[in-house]
Amino acid sequence: MPMISEATPVAFADPLPEAADVVVIGAGVVGVSTAYFLARSGARVAVFEKGRVAGEQSSRNWGWVRQQGRDPSELPIVMESKRIWRGLAEETGERDLAFTECGCLYVATDPERMARWEEWLEVAAQHQLDSRIVTPREVEALVPALNGAWAGGIFTPSDGRAEPFVAVPALARAARRLGAAIVESCAVRTVETEAGRVRAVHTERGRLGAQAVVLAGGAWTSYFASNLGLDLPQLTVRATAGRTNPVAGPEMPAVYSPQLCIRRRADGGYTVANGDLVEHYVGPRSFRYLTKFRSLLAASARDLRLRLGPPRGFPGSWGGKRRWTADEVTPFEKIRVLNPPPSEIALRRISARLPVQAPRLAEAGMAEFWGGMIDVTPDAVPYICEAPAPRGLFVGTGMSGHGFGIGPGVGRVLADLVLGRPHGHDLERFRFERFTDGSAIVPGPY
Ligand SMILES: Cc1cc2nc3c(=O)[nH]c(=O)nc-3n(C[C@H](O)[C@H](O)[C@H](O)COP(=O)(O)OP(=O)(O)OC[C@H]3O[C@@H](n4cnc5c(N)ncnc54)[C@H](O)[C@@H]3O)c2cc1C
Repeated sequence: MPMISEATPVAFADPLPEAADVVVIGAGVVGVSTAYFLARSGARVAVFEKGRVAGEQSSRNWGWVRQQGRDPSELPIVMESKRIWRGLAEETGERDLAFTECGCLYVATDPERMARWEEWLEVAAQHQLDSRIVTPREVEALVPALNGAWAGGIFTPSDGRAEPFVAVPALARAARRLGAAIVESCAVRTVETEAGRVRAVHTERGRLGAQAVVLAGGAWTSYFASNLGLDLPQLTVRATAGRTNPVAGPEMPAVYSPQLCIRRRADGGYTVANGDLVEHYVGPRSFRYLTKFRSLLAASARDLRLRLGPPRGFPGSWGGKRRWTADEVTPFEKIRVLNPPPSEIALRRISARLPVQAPRLAEAGMAEFWGGMIDVTPDAVPYICEAPAPRGLFVGTGMSGHGFGIGPGVGRVLADLVLGRPHGHDLERFRFERFTDGSAIVPGPY
């Protein structure tokens, strides 16, 4: 099945409801999960998606549900998320939500990386996570399909995988059965406020009153927020991935090496990518946020390539609209699905490495490649918070390249935050104001 795009038929076409308690903007894994948990709690919820459910990052990712190597503040939420993933298929009756506990393995050829992972084991131990260092011989036994002279690796057997492009729509179906309205091809243009509180949203199909709004717009969030007068530092990078045709072979962990990342898929193929390149299109926001991203840029310099001239209509590209009202066609309606072409450099790297490092996969041939725009915050951890203004506006974004695995956990937390219930986690690190209130910006692992 090819990647979700504007050509994918609309599958969620609920009419605009008469009233909602909560409106969710964006039907990626974060928005859909939030809607699922809100609806499960009995809230009247409506989700608006400018394009297709999971059309952007949430169908384009590698499908790793990874606890290993996370920022310490994220780990409790991703561990909860993993438990949610494990139960979702049974809870919802949706087979497409199947989760496989295949384990995640990072391998390295250099002692410096190994030392970093050994250090991270302390974080795992604090949370009784089953991560461990593995020897080169163990790496070979875990992934006989991958050639390389490894110094060793870090392995977490309880990590796993799911199938992004079918899982997120399946969760949307489950949310809908619980009463959520889901409307594809319908952008939210603005949020209406009264006396400093959220009162309604204006969509391209009309107004809907709501007491709370969850902004889960992925790569578009900063752009949308700026029109509300909110400063939300966030940039995007392009990543490239592909899938092979089916290959016979045993179950194996998802594997990351700087050269090649592979994970077995439910359709018998493998998702493949390179781990040593992302590309950033330099636009006005790059300059605006340069100082806030300085530490992350320095940490990722080896793997980052800057490209001049973002494509037209890209969120926040040169010459793009800066302000809009509820009555005009917005940038969100012009690009229904952000569908960047795969990077030519990444394609060359993957094509050169696959036959050498994973010849069995290369023999099967590639079925498809795609690009995806990853939204990143200056510290590479998300926003999971209420915005400073207006009251009733909540934000779940900035998943920084690892939001698929944590998505259901973030959705559960956001739903409870919106409903004013105890959510059980320390959300201090995910505050909205952390980049503008003078706090030190300390990047987590990216
Ligand atoms: C190549 C690649 C590999 C990755 N690998 C992994 C991985 O293995 N594991 C992992 O955990 N994560 C991975 N990620 C990251 C992960 O995919 C994202 O962090 C996650 O999907 C983000 O989900 P989201 O819901 O925040 O955003 P998105 O999935 O981008 O969804 C946001 C949605 O909001 C919609 N929207 C925006 N503005 C509006 C508006 N005004 N009105 C209506 N709708 C709007 C958009 O159309 C979009 O569909 C990867 C990402 C990429 C690109």
